[in-house]
Amino acid sequence: MPSVSEAQYRAEIARFCHLTYEKGYVASTDGNVSARLPDGHIMCTPTISNKGFVKPEDMVIIDMKAQKIKGERKASSEIAMHLLIYEMRPDIHAVVHAHPPCATAYAAAGIPLNKALISEVVLALGCIPLAEYGTPGTPELSDQLRPFVKNFDALLMANHGVVTYGANLEDAFNRMDTVEHFAKISIYTKILGRERLLSSEDVEKLWVQRQKYYGLEGSDAQPKDPMCPVTDGVSETISLTRSELIDLIERVVSNLK
Ligand SMILES: [Zn+2]
Repeated sequence: MPSVSEAQYRAEIARFCHLTYEKGYVASTDGNVSARLPDGHIMCTPTISNKGFVKPEDMVIIDMKAQKIKGERKASSEIAMHLLIYEMRPDIHAVVHAHPPCATAYAAAGIPLNKALISEVVLALGCIPLAEYGTPGTPELSDQLRPFVKNFDALLMANHGVVTYGANLEDAFNRMDTVEHFAKISIYTKILGRERLLSSEDVEKLWVQRQKYYGLEGSDAQPKDPMCPVTDGVSETISLTRSELIDLIERVVSNLK
């Protein structure tokens, strides 16, 4: 008989898998979810399983070296990414990996979700950087994620999907929810043809609030990357008069000759 807490973890992982599927964040056998157990082992979803139908008894328990401790099935093929996060972040106890369509579109376009567009997203995540592509299920992928894991709680994985992590399963899932919602809003601002970014002063005030809301102290309360999120002070668009533009083009063309 599994202990009560192990049974609870099994049920909770299954619940968040079902939610991830129902929200459309995964299709078919995409994605994987894991949690760090009180004894330090990792419970994760089995490989090639539809997250809409996965059952508590399907979960696999492994150690931090990916050796199976318990379970009928094989652990997720992308478990190395989860282990990397648990290893680098002792504060993290749950990881969710999915392919939500809007955020994954950003990942496929090679565009990070790094703009200070929505105050609540800055508060919750700061920004969501883009890790370059690495073949799933190989050390290449972990190598691309490693530089970001310490300083961010949600990452876009180029040409692949999203990984989010938190102190518990709800926390990790909420971050996935925030990333996809923000990606959708970001696409709408593109459709509207205008993005009005928050100023760096606005973002600084949000970081003070973040400290209060999340009980963060010292360096944890500060932005980890001065360019993340991008504020209106660091505009990607420039404005030129017609004659300045003509002058610029003429100079480029004459250099080509
Ligand atoms: Zn994946």
